[in-house]
Amino acid sequence: MNNPPVQLRDLEKAYYLGDEEILVLKKINLDIHSDDFMAIMGTSGSGKSTLMNIIGFLDRPTRGTYLLKGQDVSHLTDDDEAHIRNREIGFVYQNFNLLPRCTAYENVAMPLFYRPEKATDEHERVMHALEIVGLADRAKHKPNEMSGGQRQRVAIARALVTDPSILLADEPTGALDTRTSTEIMEFFERLHEDGCTIIIVTHEHEIAEMTKRIVHIRDGKIEDGSYR
Ligand code: ADP
Ligand code: MG
Repeated sequence: MNNPPVQLRDLEKAYYLGDEEILVLKKINLDIHSDDFMAIMGTSGSGKSTLMNIIGFLDRPTRGTYLLKGQDVSHLTDDDEAHIRNREIGFVYQNFNLLPRCTAYENVAMPLFYRPEKATDEHERVMHALEIVGLADRAKHKPNEMSGGQRQRVAIARALVTDPSILLADEPTGALDTRTSTEIMEFFERLHEDGCTIIIVTHEHEIAEMTKRIVHIRDGKIEDGSYR
């Protein structure tokens, strides 16, 4: 079997208040497999977002090792880091983080502007991503002309447009009602069946129950969950 694409070894994250070190992640050891559809659960302040941001290269570990596809990515330069993030990671946020003045199309196209190689296939890629989330007919709509569920699907299309190997979603249903949350989770399930590695953060049991593996984080320490 192949090595897990993500391997975290004794990973730690500290913040500093003057001389005082506040350890937010403590000796995290975690493997994420390519066929994972996983939930990271924990109470508010337990370190879920910190962990997610490190996995997604939005933040750096203080100590320990992060191996991505076997490569040690714990100490990359900013440029290398941005390059890997853009190629490997799709990120979905609780509050969608769409640009309000831009159309769905423009929002989804955004990550392609940051690629070193100019995307000559921009239109195809963007429309394909919008088709995957069922919103090709809303390409010209702005966020305020769409429902919360539709906005989150635009944000998912934006995460998918670069064809990432891992999709990370931090509380993706946190701003949605129950029915829309279920729809988004069913959508993630389909993406997972199509071969995408999906990690979501949630503090809701009903949402976590819809994944295949639940990992708990308590006070910065991880309790690895078994597969279901
Ligand atoms: P969660 O997502 O599980 O609610 P976070 O990962 O956001 O938790 O935060 C974990 C802990 O780290 C919290 O105690 C929070 O206050 C602290 N924290 C997060 N970001 C910072 C920061 N930039 N500086 C100092 N402390 C931080
Ligand atoms: Mg959080």
